[in-house]
Amino acid sequence: MATTAAEPKPKVSADEAREVAEAAREQEWAAPSFVRDLFLGKLRMDLIHPYPEQDPEEIRRAQPFLERLERLLRETVDSDRIDREGEIPDAVIQGLRELGAFGIKIPREYGGLGLSQLSYMKAIELVSSVDGSLTALLSAHQSIGVPQPLKMFGTEAQKKRYLPRLAKGAISAFALTEPGVGSDPAAMETTAVPSEDGKSWILNGEKLWCTNGTKAELMVVMARTPSKFAGGKERRQITAFVVETAWPGVEVAHRCHFMGLKAIYNGVIRFSNVRVPKENVLWEPGKGLKLALITLNTGRLTLPITAVAAGKRCLEIARQWAGERVQWGRPIGKHDAIAQKIGTMAANTFAMEAVAELCGAMADRGGYDIRLEAAIAKLYNSEVGWRIIDDTVQIRGGRGYETADSLRARGEKPIPVERIMRDFRINLIFEGSSEIMHLFIAREAVDKHLQVAGDVVLPGKSLGQRLRGVVRSALFYGWWYPGRWLGWSAWPRYAEFGALAPHVRFVERNARRLARGVFHSMLRFGPKLEFRQAVLFRLVDVAGELFAMAATCARARLLVARDPVAAGHAVQMADLFCRQSRGRIRAKFKGLWRNEDVPTYRVAQEVLEQKHLWLEQGMVRLQ
Ligand SMILES: Cc1cc2nc3c(=O)[nH]c(=O)nc-3n(C[C@H](O)[C@H](O)[C@H](O)COP(=O)(O)OP(=O)(O)OC[C@H]3O[C@@H](n4cnc5c(N)ncnc54)[C@H](O)[C@@H]3O)c2cc1C
Repeated sequence: MATTAAEPKPKVSADEAREVAEAAREQEWAAPSFVRDLFLGKLRMDLIHPYPEQDPEEIRRAQPFLERLERLLRETVDSDRIDREGEIPDAVIQGLRELGAFGIKIPREYGGLGLSQLSYMKAIELVSSVDGSLTALLSAHQSIGVPQPLKMFGTEAQKKRYLPRLAKGAISAFALTEPGVGSDPAAMETTAVPSEDGKSWILNGEKLWCTNGTKAELMVVMARTPSKFAGGKERRQITAFVVETAWPGVEVAHRCHFMGLKAIYNGVIRFSNVRVPKENVLWEPGKGLKLALITLNTGRLTLPITAVAAGKRCLEIARQWAGERVQWGRPIGKHDAIAQKIGTMAANTFAMEAVAELCGAMADRGGYDIRLEAAIAKLYNSEVGWRIIDDTVQIRGGRGYETADSLRARGEKPIPVERIMRDFRINLIFEGSSEIMHLFIAREAVDKHLQVAGDVVLPGKSLGQRLRGVVRSALFYGWWYPGRWLGWSAWPRYAEFGALAPHVRFVERNARRLARGVFHSMLRFGPKLEFRQAVLFRLVDVAGELFAMAATCARARLLVARDPVAAGHAVQMADLFCRQSRGRIRAKFKGLWRNEDVPTYRVAQEVLEQKHLWLEQGMVRLQ
């Protein structure tokens, strides 16, 4: 698709940006991935069914901590005050420190609680149900801040030096974003160069929107280090450092303020000739971006559970309000329009929990590559969570738009739906925006095809490469493609799922349809598919729905096995979710080939070219 006349010149070309991203991409699939197989048309229910249960010993160990955390949140946290004043009281932070809440996943040998990913997520669920700024504090510290990459990539000396401090509550942060570096890290301008004596790196630059940055003692900082040259070509290097904020040259230049999360300690952090000892390089020079991406693979699992907490809170609010508020002679929950929202909210909350906990359990169990599952969980739950909150605002009517303080002042229950909405919105933007998650997942969806047929469809290949590609493609697609049409997904398969079996069979059939969709899109658009994001996004959305359906059925099946009496509810919820999901999947597939993508893109470009300024008449212009 054409570029616009008014387009500013990028600091880094699209090819360079892609090269940096590709270099940081994990190329190998050392362990199985449920979602990767879905894209190839294979349903591997064996990977998620039986739905992984938490180890009873782990539950026993985590329980006292979770109970104490729940008490602390209930007794000491006033979220309206936090929202109003934009500060988390020191007593709350200290209380969290004393509970060990800053070292939930840090191994016990380093002074942490040594709990699992799933236990950590349960803690975050409790915190998120009360206060978004507190979630940001704990999660920026240990989902993406120093403890996580240090645990994964640190040397023993680094771990001994920093993990005990972090477990005791030294707050940490993750500093990747810069004014010119949002979703695309290639244009990074923060630099680190070796000092003359070779003992340190000299760090210079500015990081934007660094959560916890204004309070942190320690940070993981990503910086550009000198490029390498291979075959005459420049290879940009990004390196990760552990930086202590007490070192000379580290400065909080500005504390940022946002629509929600009023007490997030987020800022612009400036580094001026900061001397970072070479022992503080994490992993190794040049691996910084890869480290950031791998950290985010599990780091991203915090947001899906945050969405679950929001879903549960909204369900509670909607249940109470729609039952007690009478309009037109009936409780509003009896009016079909409101009832439809509540039913959908209930089914979606069940599905979000199935997705989030499945990913957490997979991370704990090991033996899976969960990069795609975590990305889908982040994308799916944050989008669904947002819709649930939007519906809750609508169900509460005018009260949904009114602040808790105002409701309280005029004698009503201070239900903070307005704050929940403001606090939640960022989840669709940070830790990989919805668009970037779609692209990340889509890249992996076409990966196998690029491996097989890349030499045929991509530009710039030699005749020899193309011929070898044709032979390779013929051998692969000769058996693969017919298999995406043929398969047994009718009764009696998956009979152990009982009433949900037809849904699991639907997932199997539609995984094959998804694989065909990916393949047909590649044939139709060739290398231009990369630019047809609306097409790619629909394919990714289908995969998200299929994953959620499979997770939901597997979780319901587990609950049936655990408690046959209560099981009916789980099956009912899973069944409703799957019925609705099937409708969305069909619509997405239909939209693959029948859509208005091209005229919409054209209009957008014309808007950018200022051809439709007439639409903006009649208002006061922005300065
Ligand atoms: C409250 C808050 C806390 C944050 N905390 C941290 C933190 O702790 N550490 C940190 O490093 N960063 C943090 N960030 C930064 C956050 O991760 C970025 O905002 C995010 O990565 C998006 O970058 P950007 O805002 O520059 O958007 P841009 O990259 O400029 O993107 C703008 C829009 O374009 C879309 N877009 C971009 N590229 C493409 C593409 N190729 N195709 C389609 N769409 C595209 C994006 O999805 C987005 O919708 C935080 C931000 C906020 C607001």
